[in-house]
Amino acid sequence: MRRITVLGATGSIGQNTLDLISRRPDEFEVEALTGAANIDLLAQDAMRMRAKLAVTANDQLYSALKECLSGTGIEVAAGAAAVAEAAARPADWSINAVVGAAGLLPSLEVLRRGGTLALANKETMVAAGPLVMASVKASGATILPVDSEHSAIFQALRGEDAREVERVILTASGGAFRDWPLERLCTATVEQASSHPNWAMGQRITIDSASMFNKALEIIEARELFNLEPRSVEVLIHPESLIHALVGFRDGALMAHLGAPDMRHAIGFALNHPARAELPVERLDLARIGQLNFRAPEVERYPALALARRVMEARGLSGAAFNAAKEVALDAFLARSLRFTDMASVVTETLDRLGGDPAFPRLSSHDATPILEDVLEADRIARLRAGDAVARIGE
Ligand code: NAD
Ligand code: MG
Repeated sequence: MRRITVLGATGSIGQNTLDLISRRPDEFEVEALTGAANIDLLAQDAMRMRAKLAVTANDQLYSALKECLSGTGIEVAAGAAAVAEAAARPADWSINAVVGAAGLLPSLEVLRRGGTLALANKETMVAAGPLVMASVKASGATILPVDSEHSAIFQALRGEDAREVERVILTASGGAFRDWPLERLCTATVEQASSHPNWAMGQRITIDSASMFNKALEIIEARELFNLEPRSVEVLIHPESLIHALVGFRDGALMAHLGAPDMRHAIGFALNHPARAELPVERLDLARIGQLNFRAPEVERYPALALARRVMEARGLSGAAFNAAKEVALDAFLARSLRFTDMASVVTETLDRLGGDPAFPRLSSHDATPILEDVLEADRIARLRAGDAVARIGE
């Protein structure tokens, strides 16, 4: 029996994880499930999966969750600290499927105890890559990437010598607006941005796919996870989303990873690692698919990519600031107080201003590994400044 903890169990990745686990009840038992607003689903899944602990990130929902689970013997807790405590409890395999920077502390708790962390929460690596990798080194913990592109790279690297890697190519569908005329982009609505051409995902990552902020986060994530030079991480538009990433070696060989756009593949790979087990995913019929298409990402359509390049070069605390500003801009777009194209403007303006901001924490040198307090402070200040930028730009 392997004990599993699912952080962010009520979301898209969390539900796909529970789907895989529930198909093999003799092999897995659930230690803890965490969620946030959707108490009914959290309680229902905690009972169905016989979890020992159920946690909502939302303090105010403690009594509601407690009531749903009364008489079941399932422990109940609430609040951000309780989510981190759930992550700190011993488990054989923990997946972090929390959305946003809120995923950082739970990730660090799993790593601190030397656990195996299946990482879907890309914000962990963007906000604190060097700190995370230092924690892995110190505790002997394992990170198994769950983002499909990073799982693809991880799989293409199996049995290879990382020093022979020349480049990695992350594919991107191009999102909901890949074929829109550029001048129309500023009119894009939340509803239009919330529908992805190929993948079924949470709303925030779907909108980030349309703006390419998702790919921006992912190239930073790849740089940190696989210790790559920024210039060796490339992005390629591939509208079919069947190749998830490619790794290029110094002899010119490219190893591509293909699969149906179904997150249960990457989750299942991490769940069964280092073995492979049968997964309930579609098998590709390449003869029927016939052709795969590729094109270079357009610079004007996807300003998020250039911003990510800037962050990859600067490193330090810029990833934390970048992600925080992006989250604030996305919240404002969702609240209809910002146009779609203004999200990149807010992030650009925030990064520009933080350069000379005395309140923004500084590192002792370019290569210094940030401490957690500095990462959290960088996140906090960037959110304040991004809020100001939203007020200015959103008028
Ligand atoms: P989602 O919005 O569907 O689910 C998010 C989960 O996080 C929910 O369980 C929610 O209750 C929980 N949550 C929300 N706010 C929280 C907070 N403040 N503290 C603790 N928990 C909180 O998101 P998703 O699409 O499943 O994505 C989860 C993560 O995985 C994101 O980082 C995303 O970028 C990444 N990811 C998702 C996919 C995908 O296919 N959905 C693919 C690759 C990577
Ligand atoms: Mg991805």
